[in-house]
Amino acid sequence: MSAGTLPRSTRAAVMHAYGEPLRIEEVPLPRELEAGALLVSIEATTLCGTDAHLWDGRLAGFIPVAMPMIHGHEMVGRVVAFGPGARLDAVGRPVAVGDRVVWSEAVCGHCHPCSVLGETVHCEHRALGFLQAADVAPYATGGLSEHVYVVPGAQRLVVDDVVEDTWAAAAGCAVKTMLRAFRQGGGVAPGSSVVVQGAGPLGLFATAYARAAGAGTVITIGGPEARLEVARAWGADHVVSVDQVVDADARVAAVMELTGGRGAELVLDLAGAPTANREGVLMCARRGAYVVVGIAGPGAEAIPMPVVMGRELRVVGSMNGDVGDLALSLEFLARHRGTFDWNLMFDAPVGLDGATGALAAMASLQTIKPVIAPAMG
Ligand SMILES: [Zn+2]
Ligand SMILES: [Zn+2]
Repeated sequence: MSAGTLPRSTRAAVMHAYGEPLRIEEVPLPRELEAGALLVSIEATTLCGTDAHLWDGRLAGFIPVAMPMIHGHEMVGRVVAFGPGARLDAVGRPVAVGDRVVWSEAVCGHCHPCSVLGETVHCEHRALGFLQAADVAPYATGGLSEHVYVVPGAQRLVVDDVVEDTWAAAAGCAVKTMLRAFRQGGGVAPGSSVVVQGAGPLGLFATAYARAAGAGTVITIGGPEARLEVARAWGADHVVSVDQVVDADARVAAVMELTGGRGAELVLDLAGAPTANREGVLMCARRGAYVVVGIAGPGAEAIPMPVVMGRELRVVGSMNGDVGDLALSLEFLARHRGTFDWNLMFDAPVGLDGATGALAAMASLQTIKPVIAPAMG
């Protein structure tokens, strides 16, 4: 497509104020594509809890929001046009117009974390597309838009045909964040016990991953019941409902009973509740690992350091994921599509005009993973 035939603007759902309905507007697109940039048409965007909490204002102050903004950082699109440069993905595969791609947050490749640590999630210039103001070039980088501009530093991957749009989209945040958490925790030892704190998208994918990775006992803690149903379907041996077992120490006791009094070799906080880290550490077996992914926020209970010392625990953090985690996520979803019905997680798609309702439903836990197909209307 020559520059003269590129679309000049795109329909998008735009947030102008916290908690108010998104406005469907025409947003400009850059006149020219920079070297290494892409223009894609979005097939599907899945919403993440972060989107819902950015919209309802709960994250105001934690994450800098430049209004007007376009939500959406889990998406998959088809390539419409390329900027100058090699038409290859992050692992060297050719990319053609019409191919489905996913992409990472933009990273620079030159800073200390990128070059010396080799850890691009810590890139000093890491750029999240949804933090782009919609009235400043390149305008449309969030997923609630028919067309999206993929900046040069965003590492892209061609998506295999067997990976459905919704799965590929969810790989962009939920699945890659979950996979990195297991890597940070040292993986799943064969036959070991794994506790997953949280039954949102991350917790549910973690339940499936622990099962697939050879855990002996998988325990998922969370709610509401509809989510625990998915946890059971995706391999949880036991679920602990936070609505039924409301006391944190009672949840610790339940895990101890389910693990023969030993606790779990690996416990992952994918919940981010104020009591989660204290109780999660208490659920760990001797020599176990505790991985912190959730942000407990103000009022979080302290973790008991004598327990960390006495049981020789490893307590590690894990933040989002890089393009490697994204690539492994696509592989995981493809490889286990016959074992786990990934579609249990996803709502039926709605158009951009359904995005506000989807954000509200997500914020109130009425749904697990809303799907927006911008071309639907
Ligand atoms: Zn960097
Ligand atoms: Zn997210």
